[in-house]
Amino acid sequence: RKPPSRRGSMADVPEDLKSQIKRLEELFTVPQEKLKEVTDHFISELAKGLSVDGGSIPMNATWCMNYPDGHETGTFIALDMGGTNLRVCEITLPEEKGEFDIIQSKYRMPEELKTGSAEELWEYIADCLQQFVEYHHEGEELDQLPLGFTFSYPATQEYIDHGVLQRWTKGFDIDGVEGKDVVPPFEAALKEKGVPIKLTALVNDTTGTLIASAYTDTMMKIGCIFGTGCNAAYMEHCGDIPKLAHLNLPKDALMAINCEWGAFDNEHKVLPRTQYDIVIDKESPRPGQQAFEKMIAGLYLGEIFRLVVLDLHKSNECSLFKDQDVSQLEKPYSLDAGFLAAIEEDPFENLSETHDMFKKKINIDATRPELELCRRLAELIGTRAARLSACGVAAIAKKKNLGECHVGADGSVFNKYPHFKARGAQALREILDWPEKTKRSEKDPIEILPAEDGSGVGAALIAALTMQRVQKGEN
Ligand code: BGC
Ligand code: MG
Repeated sequence: RKPPSRRGSMADVPEDLKSQIKRLEELFTVPQEKLKEVTDHFISELAKGLSVDGGSIPMNATWCMNYPDGHETGTFIALDMGGTNLRVCEITLPEEKGEFDIIQSKYRMPEELKTGSAEELWEYIADCLQQFVEYHHEGEELDQLPLGFTFSYPATQEYIDHGVLQRWTKGFDIDGVEGKDVVPPFEAALKEKGVPIKLTALVNDTTGTLIASAYTDTMMKIGCIFGTGCNAAYMEHCGDIPKLAHLNLPKDALMAINCEWGAFDNEHKVLPRTQYDIVIDKESPRPGQQAFEKMIAGLYLGEIFRLVVLDLHKSNECSLFKDQDVSQLEKPYSLDAGFLAAIEEDPFENLSETHDMFKKKINIDATRPELELCRRLAELIGTRAARLSACGVAAIAKKKNLGECHVGADGSVFNKYPHFKARGAQALREILDWPEKTKRSEKDPIEILPAEDGSGVGAALIAALTMQRVQKGEN
């Protein structure tokens, strides 16, 4: 095998690889017209989700019913049960809007736990909370500490301190939790260990992101997560939520809606799915669910890549990784979004990092033309994810007539994946027909900006807002 040459361009890429690159470009490129079509369908699905009959996007009422005004105070525990880590914080909100006082500990979220039993899950989480309290409050006499629990999965809530898990997402598959209120078994585990913590609010990470971001920037109107999973929350008027009409809430009262937009287009009407997206869905623990998320979120980006290159390797029409041992590449989910990000970060002239990474991670000694194909493929997958994400943001913005605003975004893909922000911004411009910026300094009417810490500070703020509401005797 030839070592990767330093120079070389498409001219040196053999015909079979070149024609595959072209095919992949056609498969993965989402043109402006398609973005607009997806966005229009998205707007109608958002409305459907709020209707009495419902649709495929859950549009969950969260009972977070206000933006913070800066007068939220108190000390709160925040627990973030994410896809990869478990984080516990103690946050003291200042008397006057200002710096938060925050201490935190991170715990690993063991992989086995995601497919283990419900008892193991709650016990593990209670253990972490107990360790946290013992470490930071050794020997203290404690009252019950109020907790904001960021539980980043779709939940039906009739009250803010309860939530019935609709279904697991992000590859979680723990029996006996779906369809049930997650709070009683969680509190039972705490009680069992005598942990002095009382759940005040069950929060989605997107709602936390919205509230934490709005605390520091009142132009923030949407909170998004582009991480292991993907989703958004925004404030709706209760009068515009037909499925809550029976509760007779004041029409102009606010209600944060956790869209759970990962479920967009579960019925496969508009998304430009490829054969690879279909395989991802089929092989996942919840086929038929989270169609949009499976094309966008960090959990799936590397897997899409892996399925494509494996397919090209096996195809008779293409010589990719000819005579190489692909046994490591055959392992599902062996490549993550970080792998794609590293490919995209590698200077194209060289691609030597990519070459070494292939050798080290999957034992493949790739040629320069093969590396070029892989680079292009990573760009295509990353770009498609960013562009499709923008459709969700544009749909909420159009639905709510948000002319000028900020969108707070968090998550590993948003923060770490190269060009994700710029690609998303470009797609928003195409969808909303903004004129090209003439100056670099000019701002787009809607900007997607890095968010404040939603599952820490955001969860604490929501717990504080909840306690204020309880004190005032509202809801
Ligand atoms: C979950 C959402 C969450 C998102 C981002 C999705 O899989 O269903 O509740 O907000 O991931 O973490
Ligand atoms: Mg998270």
